[in-house]
Amino acid sequence: MKNEEEVVLRKSVANTVLRVAQACLDESRKGWRVKMRQFNDAMDDNGISSKDVRAALEFLQLRMFLIAFLDADGNVASISVVPQHYQCEFCKMLLYIQDDPEDHIDVCLKRQKKIERNRRSIR
Ligand SMILES: [Zn+2]
Repeated sequence: MKNEEEVVLRKSVANTVLRVAQACLDESRKGWRVKMRQFNDAMDDNGISSKDVRAALEFLQLRMFLIAFLDADGNVASISVVPQHYQCEFCKMLLYIQDDPEDHIDVCLKRQKKIERNRRSIR
């Protein structure tokens, strides 16, 4: 297989793994824990081997999409999905975690000015 094809394949596996992980979140517990049995069943259904799953998890972990915890044997013990949005502490706008924060500076300053204006007009 050519290198390029391998990269495309890895990306599509990583996409599937991420989609399944997000779909298997344990709603009954706080946080972003993935239900492992449901996750593993879905991996089987998609025909993704455990080796590919581990590679995809590593790929996603490096990019801050999730955190995978391994047991002593190197098997995936649990997965926590990292929320992909956070709130800017200065202007309260919801930001996508994968975006470059520098892109937000202009908007942020404008929004802060507007917030300041609104606050003054209330008084
Ligand atoms: Zn901001």
